[in-house]
Amino acid sequence: MSISRKQALQDVLDRKPRLIERPDNKISNYYGENVFNLTMMREYLTDEACDGIVDAMENHTPISRTIADQVASAMKEWAISRGATHYTHWFQPLTGATAEKHDSFITPTSDGRVIEKFDGSLLVQQEPDASSFPSGGIRNTFEARGYTLWDPTSPAFVWGHTLCIPTIFISYTGFALDNKMPLLKALAKVDEAATSVCQYFDKNITKVVATLGWEQEYFLVDKALHAARPDLQMTGRALFGATPAKGQQLDDHYFGSIPARANAFMKEFELECHKLGIPVTTRHNEVAPNQFECAPVFEEANLANDHNLMLMEVLEQVARKHDFRVLLHEKPYPGLNGSGKHNNWSLGTNTGVNLLKPGNNPKTNLRFLTFFVNTLAALHNRADVVRASFASVGNDHRLGANEAPPAIISAFIGSQLSTLLDELETSIKAGKMTPEDKTALKLEIGRIPEVLLDNTDRNRTSPFAFTGNKFELRAVGSTANCAVPMTVLNTIVAEQLNDFKHKVDARIDKGEKKDDAILKELQKLIAKSKAIRFEGNGYSDEWVKEAKKRGLSNLKNTPEALEVLNRKEVVELFESQGVLRKEEVAARVEVELENYIMKRQIEYRVLLNMSRNIILPASIRFQNGLLGNVGQLNAILGKDAKKYSIAQLELIKSAGQLIQDLHQSCGEMEAIHDRAESAKSALQTAKQFAEKLMPSMEHVAAICASLEEVVDDADWPLPKFSELLFTR
Ligand code: ADP
Ligand code: MG
Repeated sequence: MSISRKQALQDVLDRKPRLIERPDNKISNYYGENVFNLTMMREYLTDEACDGIVDAMENHTPISRTIADQVASAMKEWAISRGATHYTHWFQPLTGATAEKHDSFITPTSDGRVIEKFDGSLLVQQEPDASSFPSGGIRNTFEARGYTLWDPTSPAFVWGHTLCIPTIFISYTGFALDNKMPLLKALAKVDEAATSVCQYFDKNITKVVATLGWEQEYFLVDKALHAARPDLQMTGRALFGATPAKGQQLDDHYFGSIPARANAFMKEFELECHKLGIPVTTRHNEVAPNQFECAPVFEEANLANDHNLMLMEVLEQVARKHDFRVLLHEKPYPGLNGSGKHNNWSLGTNTGVNLLKPGNNPKTNLRFLTFFVNTLAALHNRADVVRASFASVGNDHRLGANEAPPAIISAFIGSQLSTLLDELETSIKAGKMTPEDKTALKLEIGRIPEVLLDNTDRNRTSPFAFTGNKFELRAVGSTANCAVPMTVLNTIVAEQLNDFKHKVDARIDKGEKKDDAILKELQKLIAKSKAIRFEGNGYSDEWVKEAKKRGLSNLKNTPEALEVLNRKEVVELFESQGVLRKEEVAARVEVELENYIMKRQIEYRVLLNMSRNIILPASIRFQNGLLGNVGQLNAILGKDAKKYSIAQLELIKSAGQLIQDLHQSCGEMEAIHDRAESAKSALQTAKQFAEKLMPSMEHVAAICASLEEVVDDADWPLPKFSELLFTR
């Protein structure tokens, strides 16, 4: 049972910021204290065991049973000293969130006592019996064995009283049931492909890691107000509400001062993040009221992603301590800006070089150009797969709205780099290049660093923007597991780099000079991928038309985007790169569609219930009050009553019309839903949900919002947007 709006508002008025003491003013003194990192390992382990782990982390070599036993025992001792009583394999099922099954360290002894025990076999593998996690038919429930396997590249950590061990989750038959395993494979592939291309430029480069720096947006709302809205409780978003008189139009929240309660919350949540070794650095308000963002220093992509998943958990738990609830949903309030999670991505080498950062001589700039152009080419070849990688029920409300990138994939690279690519496209000669040609080229390539000094013309409307030394994938939703887009991005770049290497090598074999061969292949890629470059306003209608002319797809909703993954050439992409097998791709599509259908269906049911059981009765009560008033005016004033009941009668009529509309639209929505639900496949159901049910839900929501504007404020049963957004 929800609490009343009045009660909730009263509760909020009584709140005070929860102030905490930092253990120390110097973050470095407590940073990572809840992580079993290398420093801790050195303290607790023999050198031999440490070297084994480091080797496994860097070169993915298997860990021997003896070393696993040593690590397990050390981890247990350390974890107990940090207050842990239980351990869990922490994994990333396809539902998008993280999951865990806690076991205690204790083992009974024959004399009736217990001892704490944790050995290598428990560290390396656990059967979480998680048979109810979606697996898209890969794992039949009757043979419900799913295994979690330790990922030594991401350090274990203590959260609360539990030692959490990052793991992958696979079926008995070795199929990935999670989001981490494909990511690890994609990262290994891009390492291999990029390292081999790097050999053209620097033989010392033996390893390339993909880096990820995410930016997490979220909303805060008081827990009492949250409890007074069944839609927030059950769907994570407000399904309807009248636009507040003061919204985000003043832009006074953006970079404004952070309100006291939110500030106290952020301090505690940053403290917890730092103890967990999550390098969060920036905090600020976002565009919408009560919307915030935090971002860390970038890290290796697998670790960065684990950190983002941990951060979402920390956000929710710390928010509760401050009587807040955190809304991670992509669109918590219709009509206001939603939340995203920009994924900043680049490639870094073992020699400390960022491959997407231009250097200061033609040679390093050619290297930069190689990775830059190949990334654009990969995006161009595989735009639809990239689009599918951030498709989700919540993100459908955001993409294409005037706040988030459009669903059309394009890349923004800035006018100067655009000009440079255009020049390169025409100036590299088809045949043998003369020394003059080469000097001219070198001059052009040499100009890159100057070109990049001016980054001010950043385009906020592009889904994939080059920002000086990295690409920023902006379309990812705030609830997403970054592993999904990161798996795709690294896979397609690996595919493209392999192809590039192959072609350049072929030219060299035929006797072309290495640099000429590279330049000529780059030129081809520049010409071929031109359509994906767009510098203009991604929010404009002209762009939709222009993109169509260029042959770019505009996959407007999740079912349309997911359908792409069933295409033969997409399955081949994942199979050829060894990232996902055919069955795994199919399972993912099935799970995602199911997820989409279930979430939309829950929203539909909540909207129907709220309309019929909360909004209609409240509106009718309001109308009754007016009718009673008119009746009494008539009884007392007789003929004169007419002139004193004009307003009441108008209100009775306008409320009456909306009441009828709501009743009728609910019936229509129900019929649309039932038809969609009985469609012949999950894909058909999902498509009908997207194309028919969604607009019908939006219509019902709009009527509810109109009633909110008509009905007496004192009698309105739900917290209004103005209260959810501005009450502190
Ligand atoms: P913005 O204007 O979008 O907030 P910032 O310069 O603050 O841009 O950086 C945003 C994010 O980019 C940060 O999380 C940062 O860690 C990340 N970032 C910076 N360099 C890299 C890189 N080489 N690889 C991946 N992410 C990076
Ligand atoms: Mg950004």
